[in-house]
Amino acid sequence: MLRVAEQYAATDTGLARRANEDSLLARSPLFVVADGMGGAQAGEVASRLAIETFEELDGDFAEPADALSAFAQTANARIFELAHDDPAHAGMGTTVTAVYVGPEEVTVAHVGDSRAYRLRDGQLLRLTDDHSLVDELIRQGRLTPEEAEEHPQRSIITRALGPEASVEVDTRSLRACDGDLYMLCSDGLTSMVGERDLALIMSEQTPLKDTGEALIAAANAAGGRDNVTVVLLRVEEVGEIAGGRREPATLVGLTRAEGIVAGAAAEGAAPRARAPEGEGAALATRERPIARRVPRQGEHRERPRRRRGLRRIVIPAAVLVVLVVLASAAYLTMQSVYFVGTNADGLVTIYQGVPYQLPGKLNLYTVEYVSGVSASSLSPARRRTLLDESLRSEANAGELVRKLELGEIAGG
Ligand code: MG
Repeated sequence: MLRVAEQYAATDTGLARRANEDSLLARSPLFVVADGMGGAQAGEVASRLAIETFEELDGDFAEPADALSAFAQTANARIFELAHDDPAHAGMGTTVTAVYVGPEEVTVAHVGDSRAYRLRDGQLLRLTDDHSLVDELIRQGRLTPEEAEEHPQRSIITRALGPEASVEVDTRSLRACDGDLYMLCSDGLTSMVGERDLALIMSEQTPLKDTGEALIAAANAAGGRDNVTVVLLRVEEVGEIAGGRREPATLVGLTRAEGIVAGAAAEGAAPRARAPEGEGAALATRERPIARRVPRQGEHRERPRRRRGLRRIVIPAAVLVVLVVLASAAYLTMQSVYFVGTNADGLVTIYQGVPYQLPGKLNLYTVEYVSGVSASSLSPARRRTLLDESLRSEANAGELVRKLELGEIAGG
């Protein structure tokens, strides 16, 4: 049967937030991460409520998936009620990702964009789907994972505990193997560190405390835009123990008593979406309606910094080039066309350019030649046909005005 041989749990405010809205529970065999959202400390309240609800979950379960799902529903109801009873908590919500290590299987329950992963033989497998707008679009084939990384609405999550009276909870159970390493984390880690790097760090054969600290350090090294929560647990296969009781697991690296850590108010988050992998898809979900979207505050996450930096240069430069080309084309056009009209004194005048004025009284024409012919000397019909400001060549405009001056075109 399985037991948790080693574990680590910590949460870090990160570099950009003043407070930490993530909460966690690491009480073997149950591990939970919650990432709260909502202003003025409401996010912290929501994530803490979720954790406190799961703390009440105790004992062994015949159906861990049902138990975890029921507790998530209970947490949802509590957060929903508090949000409605107290205006200070209106709109609050939280993600929740829970892992329960049973005798043979590991069970995951999940809502939102925190994640659970399994590392086995150096292969990292994501066990949860993000309930985020961009992930929905990826699943619908309307967005690539690469596009999702820079999508302006990547921090909108489509499912959370709290915003609605009921919530759909994804659950799955997987057979676990000796040596499997499981990770639960908030998006403060996955939005800053790619899965390839996660796998590399998790594959290091170090104590989990060092692995966990390295993961948090990597998120902060990449910018630390969000609160970062990491829970790691390594399972091992042990012989049947009399009475079916598991030995207490070794606790390593807990940051607070009983492994419960919660923070205070902060801003939002930014999921990094990716299509579900391998065996994740089959077990996880039923039909998933799009819940009310819960926008996180503070979207400006710095994802890959070099690419961002490059974009900062390349995009404005491209826009500038286009503008210069358009302005040049407009200028050349203006230099090559003329029209005939009347000036403020009512005299027939040749203008170079086009007969338009931009806002700010910026004329797109200049006076080329003012004739001695008064427009009032022309009949209305002549004025309409000769002074209609239609575009002409320089020669054509010049010829027209010369004939008017010479009387070769009758005024009447
Ligand atoms: Mg977050």
